[in-house]
Amino acid sequence: MNSASPAPGSQSSLRERNLLRVLDTVTSLGSLTQVEIAEQTGLSAATVSNMVRDLHAAGVVSLTPGTRNGRRAVHVALATPDGVIGAMVFGDRDVRVAVAASPERILSSTRMPLPAEHAADEGLNRAAILIADLLEQLGHEPSELLAVGVGIPAPIDSVSGQVGSSGILPGWRGVDIEVAAGDALRTPTQVDNTANLAAIGELNAGALQGVQDAIHVKMSYGVGAGLIIDGSLYRGSAGTAGEIGHVTIDDRGAVCRCGNRGCLDTVVGSAAILDALRPTHGGVTLKDVISRALAGDTACQRVLGDAGDALGSALSAVVNLLNPQMISVGGQMARVGELLLGPARRTIERCALPSAGQSVTIVPGVLGDEADVIGALHLAHEMRETAQRAGLALA
Ligand SMILES: [Zn+2]
Repeated sequence: MNSASPAPGSQSSLRERNLLRVLDTVTSLGSLTQVEIAEQTGLSAATVSNMVRDLHAAGVVSLTPGTRNGRRAVHVALATPDGVIGAMVFGDRDVRVAVAASPERILSSTRMPLPAEHAADEGLNRAAILIADLLEQLGHEPSELLAVGVGIPAPIDSVSGQVGSSGILPGWRGVDIEVAAGDALRTPTQVDNTANLAAIGELNAGALQGVQDAIHVKMSYGVGAGLIIDGSLYRGSAGTAGEIGHVTIDDRGAVCRCGNRGCLDTVVGSAAILDALRPTHGGVTLKDVISRALAGDTACQRVLGDAGDALGSALSAVVNLLNPQMISVGGQMARVGELLLGPARRTIERCALPSAGQSVTIVPGVLGDEADVIGALHLAHEMRETAQRAGLALA
């Protein structure tokens, strides 16, 4: 028996259990008053007060003066001596924000719908207010936010810092996103497209951990991919590598928002899926189609299966070029699992070179819709580490 651990039932083991209960509650629920901690844990006010005093003395929690129900109250939160990092990830219809102590420890997160044709400054300012609200709820000063990873659902040109195609996200045209986001947040930011961020998330904490050569495909309203080569994200010469959504599948097909015809996006994007179902299913949403497919609706299953087939065609070319070990598929549409992945896998087996097609494993992503937020936090974490190393070198 380990002599350092107290005997069961002893006073010190009770104290240890109470400390852990208070700590677990603050870890999972964020900033709380002592009254709220007592309500959540069922411990007495006096016990909570003692535990909070000890945790504060050990530097584990921070105490911030505030109010509760109009009365003065101290807010207890996990201490973050290295400051906090943030994520701000734009989708076609919403923005999600998160504040975290590290990429593995999200302290609080929220989302807000955005109009489809919103202007960049409107989106950035609204998201900056959401982050400021989260910081305040957590008891952090704005200055404690040290870096933010920003995700945009479009290719980003690494030279101009702008959206790399004039037809995608029209409200963001001509805007240097990193500069505009830095102005809105008043903290250093790094911008990448959400498919790349999802790939970074899955590489660091999901399905692609330890994989050297891989593709992560993000399928939501549109489709994009992040390429992992030799264990790190490959962005290409102008930052727009991995744009699988704009690979031509049918050169006489529908006109794409990028200006080309018959891109994969025009075949498997949500607009194409909903159009195909309109005659039989009326005005359904992508979410409806996914839940109906899972419930056994054969038309929804067929349309998603066809999308998997088209995805497999586009991926076959990429598999031949890059010979990846693994392909993970995430985003909303991946929730249907094998209904999408099965046809994609069969098409790759049929169309790719046998040696390349047989050596690649196709799996669902494990981080779900949060992969891009976690990827954005990894970008922010790297920025904070680089800044801290630079600060140490100067000191
Ligand atoms: Zn296109």
